[in-house]
Amino acid sequence: MDAKVSAQSEKSMEGADIVVMVVDSQAGITADDEGVAGRLRGRTGPVLVAVNKVDDEAHEDLIWEFIRLGLGDPFPVSALHGRGVGDLLDAVMAVLPDEPAGATDSDAAMVSVSGQPGADHPMVSVSIVGRPNAGKSTLFNRLIGDERSVVHDQPGTTRDAIDTVVQTELGPIRFVDTAGMRRRARIDQATEYYSLLRALAAVDRSDIALLVLDATVGVTHQDQRLAERIDGAGCPIVVLLNKWDLLDTEAREAIALDIDHRLHFLGDAAVLRVSALSGKGLNRLLPELRGVIAEYRRRIPTQAVNRVLRDAQAVHPAPDGARVLYATQGATDPPTFTLFANRTLPRTYLRYLERRLREAFDLGSVPVKLRVRRRSGE
Ligand code: GDP
Repeated sequence: MDAKVSAQSEKSMEGADIVVMVVDSQAGITADDEGVAGRLRGRTGPVLVAVNKVDDEAHEDLIWEFIRLGLGDPFPVSALHGRGVGDLLDAVMAVLPDEPAGATDSDAAMVSVSGQPGADHPMVSVSIVGRPNAGKSTLFNRLIGDERSVVHDQPGTTRDAIDTVVQTELGPIRFVDTAGMRRRARIDQATEYYSLLRALAAVDRSDIALLVLDATVGVTHQDQRLAERIDGAGCPIVVLLNKWDLLDTEAREAIALDIDHRLHFLGDAAVLRVSALSGKGLNRLLPELRGVIAEYRRRIPTQAVNRVLRDAQAVHPAPDGARVLYATQGATDPPTFTLFANRTLPRTYLRYLERRLREAFDLGSVPVKLRVRRRSGE
């Protein structure tokens, strides 16, 4: 555990603009502290030392011992009580550079790799997320093994993130942050906390998330949180119930209920039962992705949008004479409709309209956005 945590700290140090080294005033300088400080002294970029557990003024003198670390004047803090944290934050702000470290324009890089600059659609990005041990690496290796044509590894936006572009029958797909999933470049299993942060960062950079669940474990609280965050980010989800091969009939029925119960907010998201290990069920993945991508990118003719809204309003008019006068699909990826209305529409009513649009155009699991504009003079 210790080794894993320090490997993780080192990685996060590499990508950081500033390092705040936290030491324990009660413990004094430990051998570990000395080791870490030694590494940090060789680092370019600011390092601040926060001496923790300085809960009151009487203990403030304890900080001076830490000058010996050679990293400048230490800051007394009490993380528990919040004491000194404001000053530490001010010091962080004062040394923060204008440009974040490791910022690369990955989209610009993408264009040259795909060889289709300005093509109709940019390459689809897919992230594979889930708890440690759910089978993400196995799945990814199976995917690239089956396709047999990895086009390119390219740096992602954080320093140690590597994306893999795979040539598939759907065209090139970029799998986001695959550094830890490649056969050879397997990095250490991160702690759950770091793996969650990492997953969220990957989701932010992707168009579709594959949420891998370990079917032998069921839907855990962390799976739920992850799913909520992905959904909240407006990213369509395909759920992969992995290790299906290990379940007996009873367990298969139980997990179906579990999904309905705990991931109900995902609505129509596809749920595929697969075995990443044997490859069983994975043949359905690409067709599923194709469907999600098509929905995501779809542009619906204005006439059709208006017809659906007119019908929906005829069946169920909005309260107080509010009315959508007309609407257009303003954007794809995800589908965004602009509704021009004579006055404010209640939220519940917007949800009703959204549902009708979703049903009429078969938008499935894709998030749909509605923007409302008031039309003046009506
Ligand atoms: P990750 O941490 O999410 O990348 O998980 P791994 O891909 O390393 O898989 C964790 C363990 O589960 C490994 O021992 C895999 O062999 C095993 N595993 C992954 N997928 C399956 C599957 O579909 N069926 C079975 N029986 N085992 C699997």
